[in-house]
Amino acid sequence: MVEQHWRFQFGFLPITSVAPDSGAGLPSSVMKPRRVLDRCSGVPASSNQWKWDIGFYPGIEPGMQQGGSAESFEVAREAFEKAWLKLEPRLTEEHFECWRRDRDFHAWKLRMWSDGRPLPAQRRDGRSTFFCGAPIETGCEDHIYSAHRGIGA
Ligand SMILES: [Zn+2]
Repeated sequence: MVEQHWRFQFGFLPITSVAPDSGAGLPSSVMKPRRVLDRCSGVPASSNQWKWDIGFYPGIEPGMQQGGSAESFEVAREAFEKAWLKLEPRLTEEHFECWRRDRDFHAWKLRMWSDGRPLPAQRRDGRSTFFCGAPIETGCEDHIYSAHRGIGA
């Protein structure tokens, strides 16, 4: 089975996954852009083998995502690209910024965990230390978004 994975960049946002045969379905997190084009699993060979789905949260509310299927990767990709071009103008810088912050916050949290550092909320006194050495308290988002901007990029 051919393994293909494409990652498109939009600004510095990884915005597209094209993952044929992944069988993984769509990312469950709604706080990230997703454009997934993957091969339908378990469908009869005679029907459309490629499906695509496009959405972005925040900006495109759940239920407003678009998707479809096609008999070939090229056709699916074309339909998907058209849908993205329609959707993109509805997104504002605020939507992208919200997404970036969410991405960085989660990356920061994972880095804290992997470094064995407690999150401020996990401590009785609400204090901990950033992996960079800076002291942190609950409500440390400003430091993440200024000092560690792009950590999850
Ligand atoms: Zn820091």
